[in-house]
Amino acid sequence: MAQRVETMLDCDACLKKEGTEVDAVMKMTIGPDEYDLCEMHGKKFRALLAEALGTPAHTLAA
Ligand SMILES: [Zn+2]
Repeated sequence: MAQRVETMLDCDACLKKEGTEVDAVMKMTIGPDEYDLCEMHGKKFRALLAEALGTPAHTLAA
């Protein structure tokens, strides 16, 4: 089975805000929407969501 290459995806937030292409290191999925995010934006949005929604029940404390 062919594996999808995901190493070359760009951070959606960097593209949107700065117009710069930064390698994405993680993916954020909300329903049908998938966002690829760099380390900085991943942490930022993860923290924002955690503050708004609380920690997901299936997530173990890190
Ligand atoms: Zn970014």
